[in-house]
Amino acid sequence: MNLEHMPAPQPAGTVDGVWPVNARRLNTGELEVAGVPLAAIAQEYGTPGFVLDVCDMRGRARTWVAAMNEAFADLGGARVYYAGKAFLSKAVARWMAEDGLSIDTASEGELRTVLAAGVPGRYCGLHGNNKTREEIELAITSGVAHIVIDSLDEIDFVEAIASELGQVAPVYLRLTTGVHAGGHEFIATAHEDQKFGLSVSTGVSREAIKRVAQASHLNLIGLHSHIGSQIAAVDGFEAAAAVVFAERTWASEQGIDIPEIDLGGGYGIRYTSEDPQPPTPETFARALASVVSHHMAESGLEAPHVSIEPGRSIIGPSMLTLYCVGTTKDVAIDGGARRYVSVDGGMSDNIRPALYEANYTAALANRSSEAEDVRSRVVGKHCESGDIVVRDVALPSDVHRGDLLAIPATGAYGYAMASNYNMLTKPPVVAVENGEVTELIRRQNVDDLLAYDLG
Ligand SMILES: *Cc1c(COP(=O)(O)O)cnc(C)c1O
Repeated sequence: MNLEHMPAPQPAGTVDGVWPVNARRLNTGELEVAGVPLAAIAQEYGTPGFVLDVCDMRGRARTWVAAMNEAFADLGGARVYYAGKAFLSKAVARWMAEDGLSIDTASEGELRTVLAAGVPGRYCGLHGNNKTREEIELAITSGVAHIVIDSLDEIDFVEAIASELGQVAPVYLRLTTGVHAGGHEFIATAHEDQKFGLSVSTGVSREAIKRVAQASHLNLIGLHSHIGSQIAAVDGFEAAAAVVFAERTWASEQGIDIPEIDLGGGYGIRYTSEDPQPPTPETFARALASVVSHHMAESGLEAPHVSIEPGRSIIGPSMLTLYCVGTTKDVAIDGGARRYVSVDGGMSDNIRPALYEANYTAALANRSSEAEDVRSRVVGKHCESGDIVVRDVALPSDVHRGDLLAIPATGAYGYAMASNYNMLTKPPVVAVENGEVTELIRRQNVDDLLAYDLG
């Protein structure tokens, strides 16, 4: 693979959508994505299944790269790491690398997937609050760009492993800035009571900086902050960056120069048309660049090289889930009725509604309908009443067994968090582009599950 080969940027213009940019309804009433009717995908690959609009995803990825490169052109430069945990496959890893991104990994499985795709280790980072020896060894021997150290304990652990390997490991320190953001607001209060990072407010971060600077097999190249997820405003990032820069300035006063900064991921998307329009990558990039300029003016230090780690905002809206309708049932609720529409997947392919009360929307995919809408709830087939796919959505009253429903914005933390609950098999992931379908990940079958069971 030639990573220097960058295909011409596509017009993105996609950052504000709930549906993939290439999703549209045909005259026949069917929904299609990138020239392929969803009914044809269901026919060929079955349901449930994930459908990836490749141009949409790559457009988003390139938009982030272009926005960061432009905002940081006159500063120390920038790099975008795709947060692989949102969704990772070998093809996606390759596309990200071709589009100029690096990839963040947080386990042996993620890192080996990227390496198996032919993407060199130097385009990877390794995260995690409890990395194993095997993960750290793999990161060092595959030459990752950096390992993000998360605790004082891990400083000694990585130092010992690097020393055994006779290598110097490039490391970042993950700081707990006290800024926690998510949903629509941020709370700049002490969000210290959680498992990630080295606390700034208690001085642990400075202890860590000093220790890494003295370690002979560690090279302290960066400071890292990640403040949360599904964030719809720039202010949390600005507040966290200010804290990171204060630490960088302090380090420089101790004679420790830290050339890189990573400001994490968490850039929000729209799951339904009710969600606020998140700032564009350009807006985020400019806001971050202005914090960097301010820091330079204040500290007199050289601009750092800045990286960010978007996951959801690249892959989330470019994928949808296709389900087949089974049972429908009307239930009396306060002041009316609700129709329960059961589909052939559920919390095993999308745990987010159960885990975070996340909201989604749904559309009939195999036909359009003139029937009047009824208040509906789309539910899965698992043995839990919390097995909800879409809490509240208006669907045509004639939706019936055999219809297809498409749920948009399931690309991030959908397949990635899938399970085999109730011994359901994980769905396939198929990519569509210019009328062509490619299966990226095949459906599991029950024999796959039985193969683990040694009796
Ligand atoms: C989860 C995570 C990300 C990506 O978050 P998104 O909300 O998907 O953008 C980036 N960096 C770190 C350290 C993370 O844990």
